Amino acid sequence: MNRPILPGAAIGVLGSGQLGRMFAIAARRMGYRVHTFSPDSDTPTGQVADVETTASYDDLDAVREFARHVQVVTFEFENVAAEAAQAAATFAPVRPGGFVLHTTQHRLREKTFLRAQGLPVTPFVACQTLAQVEQGLRELGCPAVLKTAGFGYDGKGQHKITSLEQAAEAWQALGGQEAVLEAFVDFACEASVVAVRGSDGEFAHYGLVENTHARHILDVSVAPALLPESAVRDAVAIARAVVEALEVVGVLCVEFFYTQEGRLLINELAPRPHNSGHYTFDANVTSQFEQQLRAVCLLPLGSTEQLRPAAMANLLGDVWQGGEPDWAAATAFPDVKLHLYGKQEARPGRKMGHLTALGNSVQEAVTTVRAARNSLLPIR
Ligand code: AMP
Repeated sequence: MNRPILPGAAIGVLGSGQLGRMFAIAARRMGYRVHTFSPDSDTPTGQVADVETTASYDDLDAVREFARHVQVVTFEFENVAAEAAQAAATFAPVRPGGFVLHTTQHRLREKTFLRAQGLPVTPFVACQTLAQVEQGLRELGCPAVLKTAGFGYDGKGQHKITSLEQAAEAWQALGGQEAVLEAFVDFACEASVVAVRGSDGEFAHYGLVENTHARHILDVSVAPALLPESAVRDAVAIARAVVEALEVVGVLCVEFFYTQEGRLLINELAPRPHNSGHYTFDANVTSQFEQQLRAVCLLPLGSTEQLRPAAMANLLGDVWQGGEPDWAAATAFPDVKLHLYGKQEARPGRKMGHLTALGNSVQEAVTTVRAARNSLLPIR
């Protein structure tokens, strides 16, 4: 029987971005120590961690040395090589386990797994050659989206194809590597469920959140989603089936397309806290980050109750293009919380922070969060 890992213990985080930062804040609040590992220094996680290790994920000796000093290892970034997770596992349990990482870091494995479980996924065809892409386009029809099978996120490594003639160009643009061709879904909206499973099988979820993307990157999330009750029930049931099938210990987000006909199709899985769950930091009794901590430390899960309707807007580097954002203006909104990740360089498309607004209704929260974000722009 595994014993809980209690406050005072050290938790290791592979990865050092904003997800690790918010996890570390939740963990330190509860009296844990946090060690982070990534190839960078002065990172969003490192700035708030007790110990920051800077080494390559391929440096397995460094990974083992890191794991030797912590009681459990988790990750905030699923594109950590399986070898690194295995190396860590020689000294500390890794949660969620290697199978979850292995499945979810590769689109093709993930989709094949989900389909085998009888779960609804976007229609897809596996492609190893250009001929298979062309055959896939005949099967699925146009438009379609060609995506690299491994290591892609936020629309990176994907190409929309609108006619058979574009197949070769798209195939070359992705470097001719193993890919997944997906039918293009004419969705009514995108939505997600952040779910959590404890080591004893305890399940919790945050309901359905509606997400709007801009340039393939999450822009605004509203919680709860204004979708029919039956869609919420179905989405949560699917998320539960996913975390149970993968035997996840920790948080996992299921991203969906909600079609014009009212069907839910899984777009992808993220085996960690997710951008669409950031609002839980301010709006829920227990945030997704604290749930991750509780799950990996084998503690009981906390209440996911949402205290007020909420909306979250990402702050990408683009917000800095006209100069330093007007922080005082955004903080003048009393129901808005500002989160900045401590990143030095504000590149366009880079996630630098987010705002969460609470409201009496979802509509009010989303209006407020957009107004607060607009107020940041120095030139209006
Ligand atoms: P992904 O990195 O696969 O989650 O893709 C990022 C975004 O691209 C999604 O959130 C969608 O807005 C869009 N997208 C990806 N795949 C498809 C698809 N098959 N049909 C329609 N839109 C898509």
